Amino acid sequence: MRTPFVAANWKMNKTLPEALDFLQTIAGKLPAEDDVEALICAQSLFLSQMMALTPDEPLKIGAENVFWQDQGAFTGETSPKAVASLGVDYVIIGHSERRKYFRETDEMVNNKVQAVLRNGMRPIICVDETMGQRESNEKVHWVVSQVIEALKGVAIEDAHKITIAYEPSWAIGAAAASAKQAEDGCYLIRQTVADMLSDEAADQVRVLYGGSVKPTNQAELMAMPNIDGVLVGDASLDPDIFLQLVNYQQ
Ligand code: 13P
Repeated sequence: MRTPFVAANWKMNKTLPEALDFLQTIAGKLPAEDDVEALICAQSLFLSQMMALTPDEPLKIGAENVFWQDQGAFTGETSPKAVASLGVDYVIIGHSERRKYFRETDEMVNNKVQAVLRNGMRPIICVDETMGQRESNEKVHWVVSQVIEALKGVAIEDAHKITIAYEPSWAIGAAAASAKQAEDGCYLIRQTVADMLSDEAADQVRVLYGGSVKPTNQAELMAMPNIDGVLVGDASLDPDIFLQLVNYQQ
């Protein structure tokens, strides 16, 4: 059984005091870890203080990006080895904003996935599609090719560490995909993992939907057979809304 997963992506929001205030507000109000896995991904410079404030909370803290080399002359980059040394579990890789603004290619995404796994962490791999790509009849579906490229060289035994988020850019900060559209994308991702690795691996990989998720559409999305959870941007910045999201009722 895959544990339901509610993951916040704060993006480039909040100062350190704001981040710590948020954590104080939600302290003691999170669901048990076996019921729902709750994660907040934040700017790397806050991660150690956020973790220090929540050692006993059923809450994981994650990074939003890392570089693909462990160390070296890469001024301004964040080392996956350094992030892992903080005790961080999860790292978002290949978010559409990184693909768009920082020109991250499928090859870079794959290198970063390997770096995250090599350092004992778990990648949340984002795959994206525009409305044009969704509606076009290309031979290889855009989402499928991103999954194939991202998972190149990943060992079948690591499948349980992998989360893939279907985040169509037409639904980010806009109107959410319908539950059916989101399920179609997540199903396609799981089938691609089955074809590439195995049915068992596809059963272990968690697949999330992201794009304008709110408490009002979350339950319908998470009731879909191939949607194991949600990756939430804007709505996760408010502690009361984040608490509603992690304490959702199916
Ligand atoms: P919104 O929830 O703000 O649409 O953002 C989704 C997202 O990009 C999460 O990674």
